[in-house]
Amino acid sequence: MPLRPRPTPTPEQLAKIDAGDWQRAGGGCVCETCGKLYYDHPYFAEPSEFLTILCDGDLVKL
Ligand SMILES: [Zn+2]
Repeated sequence: MPLRPRPTPTPEQLAKIDAGDWQRAGGGCVCETCGKLYYDHPYFAEPSEFLTILCDGDLVKL
């Protein structure tokens, strides 16, 4: 299985991270936008690698 891409947060995403604007979620949840599991979405490069980026822009910790 290929590694998921690991983008660096944009300034806008960094602001959300700094503000604690993210939620805990189960990796088995299904994305409402693309229908894939949350586990199949990209997560940030370190040091924000604990956050996964969903298609609608929401950040979740799996
Ligand atoms: Zn998605």
